Amino acid sequence: MMIVTTFDELRTALPLLEGRLGFVPTMGCLHEGHISLARRARVECDCVAVSIFVNPVQFGPHEDLSKYPRDLERDLHLLEDAGVDLVWTPTPEIMYPAGFQTWVEVEQMTRPLEGAQRPGHFRGVTTVVAKLFNAVQPAKAYFGQKDAQQAAVIRQMTRDLNFPIEIVVCPTVREPDGLAMSSRNVYLDADQRKAAAVLYRSLSAAKAAYEQGERDAERLRTLMKTVLASEPLAQMQYVSCADYDTLQELEQVSGKTLLSMAVFIGKTRLIDNFVLG
Ligand code: AMP
Repeated sequence: MMIVTTFDELRTALPLLEGRLGFVPTMGCLHEGHISLARRARVECDCVAVSIFVNPVQFGPHEDLSKYPRDLERDLHLLEDAGVDLVWTPTPEIMYPAGFQTWVEVEQMTRPLEGAQRPGHFRGVTTVVAKLFNAVQPAKAYFGQKDAQQAAVIRQMTRDLNFPIEIVVCPTVREPDGLAMSSRNVYLDADQRKAAAVLYRSLSAAKAAYEQGERDAERLRTLMKTVLASEPLAQMQYVSCADYDTLQELEQVSGKTLLSMAVFIGKTRLIDNFVLG
């Protein structure tokens, strides 16, 4: 497995990878969710590249950039075991040298949900992913359904900027109690960890109601809120029942629909979602 840091090193390494290249962008502190993307790329492509970069510009001023968990040595072992060919670990100074002033911004689709709670977050995400795509030029890039709005925004950006890259969105990998795997789960103490399964229970309750014929979006939102309110350690930030493609809130559920939420468990902000239809 090749490990590179600078753009020059990357440019030297990429021609050594023959055939169709699959690419998995990450912020490290890898778990089974990330590894599932690398494995899918391994199956579908000839070579696999993974980036590890905690992207400072997608964190708000009061978010967890400085304490975001990092464990490069462990990450590299996991990626080697998953059969990854190339790992790129740029630094903030390499990605954003002094004088950097070019941004990539997707409009409407970044306004609701995560975009409403985290101003500037998606501008940071799309800017870094555009830079990663330009440098790596993969045939396919792999993202998790766990970050549903991010996947939708990246798909839109890829289309709008004519990147010749196929975006593959992979299912959310969960712990046995349903909690979506996330690098941020390491922040949870034992009680909070138990409480965090409430996101999955809340989404499951809404999905069960939908499967029994409920199509009133407000009733689905209320049901999700009620389950969240039953967990004293959970503080809801938003719940949403929105059109899967436009991310606009619905009154009636008809086509493909995204149930999503952001919930604080103590100081840790967790997100999760289910797709209906
Ligand atoms: P991150 O390191 O959090 O930026 O995530 C890197 C990629 O892994 C993103 O495309 C995420 O959506 C994806 N990912 C994170 N958690 C999971 C999970 N539990 N299941 C599947 N994909 C995930």
